[in-house]
Amino acid sequence: MTGAALESRAGKSRHTLLGLHDVRVHYPMGSDWLGRPKAVAHALNGIDLQVRAGETLGVVGESGCGKSTLAQLLMGLIKPTSGTLDWIYNNPGERSSNVQIVFQDPQSSLDPRLPVWKVITEPLFVQRSAPRRDMRDIAARVASQVGIRTEYMDRFPHQFSGGQRQRIAIARALSSDPDIIVLDEPTSALDISVQAQILNLLAELQRSRNLTYILISHNVSVVRHMADRVAVMYLGQIVELGSASEVLERPRHPYTQLLLEAVPRLGVAVDDAQVSAPTELPGNRNLPTGCFFRDRCPKATAGCEIPQALLPAKGVETGERVRCHLQSG
Ligand code: SF4
Repeated sequence: MTGAALESRAGKSRHTLLGLHDVRVHYPMGSDWLGRPKAVAHALNGIDLQVRAGETLGVVGESGCGKSTLAQLLMGLIKPTSGTLDWIYNNPGERSSNVQIVFQDPQSSLDPRLPVWKVITEPLFVQRSAPRRDMRDIAARVASQVGIRTEYMDRFPHQFSGGQRQRIAIARALSSDPDIIVLDEPTSALDISVQAQILNLLAELQRSRNLTYILISHNVSVVRHMADRVAVMYLGQIVELGSASEVLERPRHPYTQLLLEAVPRLGVAVDDAQVSAPTELPGNRNLPTGCFFRDRCPKATAGCEIPQALLPAKGVETGERVRCHLQSG
């Protein structure tokens, strides 16, 4: 996808669906004989983010940067230690939020004991949001939208190929008409030949159903292909946020620059384009003082000893935000 195409994709006007305001998630670890935590893991450290209806928001960063915690938070599986999540509906009070997820590995994410129609309608059973007598019809309808034949509804997950199982996982995510679908490395467990088919299916479903995706990925090629906007995470913070074209083509934060330098550009297998950085991510039990990236940053100066806020990027009109005093204005 060209930068211009990315630009026009990101430029569509969309209302905010979900706002996260200074969200922190801290976990106590272990406990002493008085029951006090021995340590605290600082998984998310002040996330400010707005998710827009109908967009794909890519979230990238190394393992341990907080991507998975962010996904769990959006799914409602964990609560923030502090900060707020605000859902914004056209008709407030009409419904509660519904976030579904497509996991990396469809083999382990689908219940092997259930026939496909029950797998697909699991969220509806859990939410009790449709009559039982309608479940088979709903499953068949969604299955046909993802390219699974309706006569296979009584088969079990192991009777399908990896690509078909991921289609079933997508159907399961779609069946309850979610506000947001979290795509957690949705193609990384699949054969190369199938990856493009799944990405194209996700893009087609988004166009036809105005779906909102949060795409969590180590794979910059996938993010470049899918995302309208990109959030780069480091040690539980967003360090850069903006349109995919700006963040991926003209990265401003030194961390984003390092990540992208480590990613091969063209002519390599998608699996080889993994995000990495030359030194190890520090642990999140004792957070660094000042800029979290200071110990690894090749551009660090004396001014980096104070905490950095996520501020508009210097000299840029497009709403890009960056957590670095050299780059923010
Ligand atoms: Fe590097 Fe300093 Fe910017 Fe942090 S604030 S990213 S240490 S230059």
